[in-house]
Amino acid sequence: MKILIANLGSTSFKYRLFDMDADNAAQLASGGFERVTNYTSCIEEMLESLVGEGHLQSGEEIDAVGFKTVLGKDLSGCVEADAHVLEALEGFKEVAPAHNPAYAAGIRCFAEKLPQVPRVALFETAFYQWITPAAYSYAIPQAWRDLGIRRYGFHGASHKFVAERSAEILGNGIIVDRVRNLYTTGPGEYSGAPLRVLSCHLGGSSSVTGIQNGVAIGTSMGFSPQSGLPQNNRVGDLDSMAIPYVCKMLGLSIEEAERQLNKESGLLGLSGVSNDARDIRDAAEQGNTDAVLATEVLIDSIRHWAGSFFFKMGGAEAIVFTAGIGENDAELRAAVCAGLEDLGVQIDPTANAKAIRGVEGIISAPDSKIKVIVIPANEELVIAREVFRKVSK
Ligand code: AMP
Repeated sequence: MKILIANLGSTSFKYRLFDMDADNAAQLASGGFERVTNYTSCIEEMLESLVGEGHLQSGEEIDAVGFKTVLGKDLSGCVEADAHVLEALEGFKEVAPAHNPAYAAGIRCFAEKLPQVPRVALFETAFYQWITPAAYSYAIPQAWRDLGIRRYGFHGASHKFVAERSAEILGNGIIVDRVRNLYTTGPGEYSGAPLRVLSCHLGGSSSVTGIQNGVAIGTSMGFSPQSGLPQNNRVGDLDSMAIPYVCKMLGLSIEEAERQLNKESGLLGLSGVSNDARDIRDAAEQGNTDAVLATEVLIDSIRHWAGSFFFKMGGAEAIVFTAGIGENDAELRAAVCAGLEDLGVQIDPTANAKAIRGVEGIISAPDSKIKVIVIPANEELVIAREVFRKVSK
């Protein structure tokens, strides 16, 4: 079965084509476009290149297209990307302005261009559907909660991949199966050996999730992908009173405050240098104190959230680093894990230095009670597997 995964940003379009069966997923092709203004022409160009390279005879040969949709109003899980999904994306377009309009436009373009090819949406919030009301509720009036204001959680496909792959690496096959079947059969009962994972997805956008025996118990992300850790140019956690105060003191409109929190905050706002962690590290090495502070705030925030889930789960068997920063910045990983020897965390500096540029590996010392692991992100594989199941049904 040929499954295409479309990864849509507000100005980008990336894709991967998989050949799937029940046990295997082979990636046939991948590609993408930047500075996109029209998804239809991208889809046409992509199909031309997939046919030209011999992966497809025509677009009709694609068995399904999968979308990594972010946040739907009153909708989550793995569902047919139909009018109901478009309505759910539309319903929360103000909350995820960088993501929802792009996915709605992309789904419509595929429906127009390849109407007979099934479309499936896997919401990023799906991994968090078993979080308890105590963990997802904000202390706000009922009328606010009735609008759907609560913690949702994002990067679900990435953290789900971490849940499965870390169980595989640590030899817990029951949890591997539990995670794979999560969206079709639910978590069910579990009575095997505990596997509590502090999953750190650190990239352009970052989050920490606590995963207990394959199931998320909480995450640093909240109502929108705006909370938790400082993001590349989005704010992360902020006291709600700061917004009315700044609007009053600086004479900003609510729209301008929102723009600054979305575009000029996070690592960019703190460092004043860049929204890219590599540029910030270079500036810090040259003595830029704002760049040093940006890195320190990120590290402090990762430790804050990982510490919270460590406490909530009553311990951890593994800490996992994934995504651009997590997979490449050995120095940051060491800083996150520094001084935790009493908790049972001991980094092996040689193994840590080796696990970069897509190399998976255990980076803790052999006698470290808590394993520290680098797992290269593979969100597309998680989506392709779920789409395969949905379409095979
Ligand atoms: P992602 O969103 O997963 O693509 O991650 C993007 C982030 O990863 C950017 O902030 C990059 O600066 C960061 N990144 C990529 N390579 C490295 C590296 N070698 N060292 C530090 N950060 C990196």
